[in-house]
Amino acid sequence: MATTIEIDEMITVGNLAEQLMLPVSKVITELMKNGVMATVNERIDFDTAQIIVGEMGLEIELMRKKQEEATPHREKKVVSDQAISRPPVVAVMGHVDHGKTSLLDAIRAEQVAKGEAGGITQHISAYQVERKERLITFLDTPGHEAFAALREHGAQLTDLVIIVVAADDGVKPQTIEAIRFARKAGVKMIVAINKMDKEGANPDLVKQQLAEQELLVEEWGGDVVTVPVSAKTGKGVDDLLDMVLLVADVEDLRADLDVPARGLIIEAHMEQGRGPVAEALVEAGKLKPGDFIVAGGTYARVRNLESTSKKPLKEATASTPVVITGFKAVPEFGNEFVVVKDEKIARSTAAAAATELKNGAGKLDISSNELIRIINRSNKLNELNLIIKADVQGSLTSVIDSLKALDTDEVAVRVVGSGVGPITDNDVRMAQTSDAIIYGFNVDMPSNIKHQASRDRVTVQLYRVIYELIDDTRAELTKLLPPEIVETPLGRLVVKGIFKTSKTEVICGGEVTKGKLVTPALAKIIRGKEEIAEVEITNLKRGPQDAKEVFESEMCGLSFKSNSRVDLEEGDHIEAFTRETVARNL
Ligand code: GDP
Repeated sequence: MATTIEIDEMITVGNLAEQLMLPVSKVITELMKNGVMATVNERIDFDTAQIIVGEMGLEIELMRKKQEEATPHREKKVVSDQAISRPPVVAVMGHVDHGKTSLLDAIRAEQVAKGEAGGITQHISAYQVERKERLITFLDTPGHEAFAALREHGAQLTDLVIIVVAADDGVKPQTIEAIRFARKAGVKMIVAINKMDKEGANPDLVKQQLAEQELLVEEWGGDVVTVPVSAKTGKGVDDLLDMVLLVADVEDLRADLDVPARGLIIEAHMEQGRGPVAEALVEAGKLKPGDFIVAGGTYARVRNLESTSKKPLKEATASTPVVITGFKAVPEFGNEFVVVKDEKIARSTAAAAATELKNGAGKLDISSNELIRIINRSNKLNELNLIIKADVQGSLTSVIDSLKALDTDEVAVRVVGSGVGPITDNDVRMAQTSDAIIYGFNVDMPSNIKHQASRDRVTVQLYRVIYELIDDTRAELTKLLPPEIVETPLGRLVVKGIFKTSKTEVICGGEVTKGKLVTPALAKIIRGKEEIAEVEITNLKRGPQDAKEVFESEMCGLSFKSNSRVDLEEGDHIEAFTRETVARNL
């Protein structure tokens, strides 16, 4: 009989070997056979571990550690004080044939009946319905696997999951899986007990079975809401929607409007005549036609912005599902998108993201935060993001004013957040998302916040003297200054003979007319007054001997390398030089 071993979702190679009671080298070799290069301290995921255990033919069964289920992955999205309420995003999950599709249809029929949208026939991944003058966004369940993939890279798509259970069939394996998923993702659940119109309907049995899954419904002293419905007759559907709104109110779902729009691609395909078409869910900000957006390794200038029922939209805010055209390539399901300032930034960010995706083996996506970091890097914004906290309003204002005075044409202080009072967890979260440093002036930092900051790698500095704060800011800004490039001439050679020319290499001979030539060194090829190429000197020869240096009035042989073909001519000059980057001062 196979032994069962519980391991974490991620485990180091060394730890896995230990658990399997095998030499580390054996595990590493097995990983290599499967194309995974990992050292003893590197971490591999559960699935990889499971594959190699299987391939080694061990009598061992791996299981994910249970405790993980109890720690929800979901963290409340960071929002500012100005954030406004947004509609809940709801997914419907449950066992096959329990009525997920019928329920989604019934909910949508409600909307169609109210004349909100003309008959929606084709498949869509999300839609919104109105109930009591409020909106609810429903996702057409993209299957458990797709959800799992999304969760893997931290994307938080849903606020609430409706678990559909057929009243005449009860809790089944996929019901349990759905409950497990919702728990793991840390999202709230509502149970819709469906098919109530059927004769064998037994909602009490369903509730009892749910209790066996440690899902305690209200009648059993728990806090899970159940709603009896019939997707067939439509009975109870309104109640279900009311419950969704109620749960949403408790969750206090909010999003910022006044930020560059961002969100998630939930479906994408190629369409004849329209090119790449993507369905996306806006998470924050306002998305408008004409905006430049980057998603994964591609970008778009939003050409058409439509609702999923094909109505053109002037703008779309949080929790709104939209259809976007204008992408250069088809983005991928689960890609996060962000709006950027112009096409140049969109193009360079997409290119950088594509490279990161290519280099980050197995990496599925670039998160919107990573995109923003890439943008800031490639944007030459050279801004220092700061969050400033001070003891009183007066000192806060003077700190901010003195820091603003440090701005130059090339670097600037950007205060992304400020306030009076001690440093809070919200400051740390905001610092993390905006890649900011926190400066506290005459304020304290509770020790739990200190821990949070060090865990999230957020720098927090506390000051009592304003000049020290200013000096440190100046030092940080200096680091952002693009370094100065300094070229120093070494010497010059006049070409007297060309011995060999290939696409990337030239061998020639000549006389040093000034200074000295060294190897290796950079060199410019000058014809008349014009620079025709920049090359790298790879070898020097004095007679048949290799030389490190040759001096004025000496004859020498010289080889250089270049990126493209250089058709050297007699009489050309080769000017050797060094190039250094020198840090600058503010
Ligand atoms: P899914 O696999 O969960 O998407 O289930 P479907 O929505 O496809 O429903 C499976 C079957 O159950 C279909 O034949 C539906 O007509 C039927 N069904 C769904 N909801 C109800 C309901 O409330 N009452 C009755 N009597 N049948 C239903």
